[in-house]
Amino acid sequence: MSLYGAIEAGGTKFVCAVGDAKGNIQERISIPTTTPEETMPEVIAFFKKFSVDAIGIGSFGPIDVDKNNATYGNITTTPKLAWKDFPLLKTIEDEFSVPTGFNTDVNVAALGEAKLGAAKGVDNCLYITIGTGIGAGAYINGELLQGLTHPEMGHILVRRHPKDSYKGRCPYHADCLEGLAAGPAIEERWGEKAFHLSDKEEVWEMEGYYIAQALMQYILILSPKKIILGGGVMNQEHVLTYVYRYLGELLNGYVSYPEVQDKMNEYIVRPGLGDNAGITGGLLLAEKVFHER
Ligand code: ADP
Ligand code: ZN
Repeated sequence: MSLYGAIEAGGTKFVCAVGDAKGNIQERISIPTTTPEETMPEVIAFFKKFSVDAIGIGSFGPIDVDKNNATYGNITTTPKLAWKDFPLLKTIEDEFSVPTGFNTDVNVAALGEAKLGAAKGVDNCLYITIGTGIGAGAYINGELLQGLTHPEMGHILVRRHPKDSYKGRCPYHADCLEGLAAGPAIEERWGEKAFHLSDKEEVWEMEGYYIAQALMQYILILSPKKIILGGGVMNQEHVLTYVYRYLGELLNGYVSYPEVQDKMNEYIVRPGLGDNAGITGGLLLAEKVFHER
C-alpha cells in the first residue's frame, strides 16, 4: 500500500504525518509555526525519514490555489508577515520529487470529513472551523470548491446581536463574522479566556446567534448535505443548542427539507475525525494527486 505524507500548516503549528489513504496515521509530529527559516527545515527533516509516494498540504491562508499562476502554492496576503508570499508548495516540491497537492486547511479538512468522517458517503459537505479565525471549506459534488480563488466564508457580514457593542477585530472588516465570533473576539469582548467562559450563557447565546446567521447563508448559497463544525470554540458544545434554535428561526421553514427542519442535530454536527480532520484530509489529497499524476 502506498505511503502518503500530510501537512496541516496552521498559524500556530504545523502538524506533519505519514500514513495511508484509509486515514491510518503511522507517525506524526507537531512543529511550532515561527518563521519559514525555522519551521520548514523541521518539516523537511520529518519527511526525509520516510519514502512517501505523494504529499497533501492543507494550509492557512490566504493562499494561491490557481495552478495557472506563477505564485501557485504560495501563502499570499497573510497578516503573519514572516510567511507573506512564502512559496510553501515549491519548498516541499524542491525537496521531495513526488506529486504534491495544495489547498486550504479547511478545504482539506472537508475532504477528510467527506471521505472518512462525519460526512462519509456524502458527496457534498461543508467544514467550518471556529478557532483563532473562522474559515470554511466546501466539498461540492466530489470536488473541493475553488473559483477565482478559494472561498473566504469567515469574512461574511452578519447582523449584530442587539446586545453586542464590541467593535470587532478583523483587520480588514472589523465586524465581519470572524471579527465578531472567532475565539480572540470572544476573549476580547468578554475579557476572559474562552474556556473560562463556559458558564456564561450570554456568551454562547451570542456566539450561536452569529454562527446561525453564517450557516443560513451557506445553506442558501451552497445547499450542503452535511455541515461540520470544528475548531477550538466548538469545544463549547452548548453553542450548538443556540445554533439550532436561531437557525430554525432564521430559515423560518423556507428550506423545507427534513434534514434542515426536523433533524438539524444530524445535519449540523461535530467532526467525525475530531482533531484529525485536516491531517486525514491531507493523506487523502496526497492519494488524489498520486492517482492523477
Ligand atoms: P487554530 O484556529 O489556531 O487552529 P483552535 O481551533 O484550537 O486553533 O482555536 C483556538 C481558539 O479557540 C482560541 O483562540 C480560543 O479562543 C478558542 N478555544 C480553544 N479552546 C476552547 C474551549 N475549550 N472553549 C472555548 N474556546 C476555546
Ligand atoms: Zn473580515
